[in-house]
Amino acid sequence: MADPGQIVNQRFPASIRVAGLTYTVRLGAANDLLRAKNIAALTSFRELTIDIQTERVFACQRASLLHEILHCVTSHTNLDTAWGDHEEDYVERLENALDMVLADNPSLVRLYLVEQS
Ligand SMILES: [Zn+2]
Repeated sequence: MADPGQIVNQRFPASIRVAGLTYTVRLGAANDLLRAKNIAALTSFRELTIDIQTERVFACQRASLLHEILHCVTSHTNLDTAWGDHEEDYVERLENALDMVLADNPSLVRLYLVEQS
């Protein structure tokens, strides 16, 4: 019998594509880097990986993935440079708002599942 945590983890995509780059999503216990920085997730733009620590509740893991995707987007659009020291704050605000919008509007999320003809 699979443990519930494993079933939850299967909801996560194995990879995320952002502007032509494919980031591998890795779920697991916090590594030393995540622990040292006291963060729930981290993106490596060099390795094209997104690490999500699974020691937090599912909603936090999901929001963390969205947060890291936003970092990928800001990198692609050079907003990270434009925002400078404010990037983390702005990404966090966008994460909270988008997480709320996506959670509150499943029909919006389903709209992206429809194949375009
Ligand atoms: Zn961040």
